[in-house]
Amino acid sequence: MNIKDTVSKIKSGKQSCRELLDEYIPVILDGQEKLNTYITLLLDSAKERAESLDARIAAGDSSGDLLGIPVAIKDNMMLSGTRTTCGSKILENYISPYTATAVGKLIDAGAVIVGKTNMDEFAMGSSGETSFFGPARNPNDPDRIPGGSSSGSAACVADSQVMGSLGSDTGGSIRQPAAMCGVVGMKPTYGYVSRYGLVAFASSLDQIGPFASNVEDAARIFTVIAGFDEKDSTSIAPGESDFVRWVHEKGMKLKIGIPREYMGGGLSGEIHNRIADTARRLERSGFEIKDISLPLTKYAVAAYYIVAPAEASANLARYDGVKYGYRTPSPDDLLEEYKVSRQEGFGDEVKRRIMIGTYALSSGYYDAYYLKAQRVRRLMERDFQEAFGDVDIILSPTSPTTAFKLGEKTQDPLQMYLSDIYTISCNLVGLPGINVPVGKDSAGLPIGAQLIAPWRCDGKLLYAARQVEKIYE
Ligand code: GLN
Repeated sequence: MNIKDTVSKIKSGKQSCRELLDEYIPVILDGQEKLNTYITLLLDSAKERAESLDARIAAGDSSGDLLGIPVAIKDNMMLSGTRTTCGSKILENYISPYTATAVGKLIDAGAVIVGKTNMDEFAMGSSGETSFFGPARNPNDPDRIPGGSSSGSAACVADSQVMGSLGSDTGGSIRQPAAMCGVVGMKPTYGYVSRYGLVAFASSLDQIGPFASNVEDAARIFTVIAGFDEKDSTSIAPGESDFVRWVHEKGMKLKIGIPREYMGGGLSGEIHNRIADTARRLERSGFEIKDISLPLTKYAVAAYYIVAPAEASANLARYDGVKYGYRTPSPDDLLEEYKVSRQEGFGDEVKRRIMIGTYALSSGYYDAYYLKAQRVRRLMERDFQEAFGDVDIILSPTSPTTAFKLGEKTQDPLQMYLSDIYTISCNLVGLPGINVPVGKDSAGLPIGAQLIAPWRCDGKLLYAARQVEKIYE
């Protein structure tokens, strides 16, 4: 059942919110045990919430596009009174003092939040393995990674523990785990979903977006969470209030471009063939397919791994043991308190990013690294503008491989970084992108196709995603 039908069932009184939640609870508990999908389960408050929604419905108010729908949120989003750990020891006991705008919108729409999902520490990672709370696992094969950094948010949807979830995407953290787990995951246009209450990793790249098991549900959640928010200075008004209609749009012809740089070296043969096959099938359904070029793709990973760590090093300066989170028990003096709290509170990957970022921003290196990366970013925007002068949508693989084994890449950060090659550019340029599952490989692991649309064309993106989804139904 999709979200719309489930909500109708609740509104018509055929099922109560509590009954629906009770169907999900055993799946959640079982999944948590097998897959470590949550850092904090909120089942008691979810039960209370479902019951209070039922009381509201009984009193005649059954408003809300997500009425009674069980959802989960990534543990880098504030939900007042709950822990927000960011997958880190440094925030292990941090209690959210307020609720993030996107999360508040879910609640206002009637959703029932069942838990806060596992994630790479501070969203830095591509596999979920940098979490202080141990890695989440892939429901398709628990020996494999679910992708990251929104590892738990992707896995819990793939495992049918919830009908939807929220993740954040700084360089691929929604689309890439969606591909690994075989679900839909969307990164909206930068600014469409408020970042207020999302713990900052790299502020100019971070964007919240939905996971769901189909495009329509993703569009529905996205419609709920999108919107201008004066509490986020980079927020922009989406200019439309219903993205679901795009999913039902018919007959709109699209010219779809496949960037040759996204189909070359490093890409698994099976994924290559599946994307090429998807393109052929789209062509047969009447869409025009075009070979295009995004020449600066080769600099994307390098530019991202300067910009993102630079912003992270500034954003994470606040964790010094004084105001937020972990403080080392008995420091000799104040300086020692800062140093040791950070040393003990942060994991290796976070420290690596802080060091890279601090280096890139330091006097004498700023122009050579940070400024140069920002210039590359500007040029990449031109690359995409040129491409979109010719095509409506870009189609590519989401990830160069399917889900790899736990532990396979943890010793080699560069290998890990390279798994983001196809998703990073969207963030550097602020474009909307989405992962749509396109079947499985010969080992039974999900393959994901990525679609990218021009800036502010999230509706068209969802339309295209629906067309790809149809092929594999
Ligand atoms: N894997 C990328 C990184 O480690 C992207 C993570 C993200 O999108 N949050 O930075």
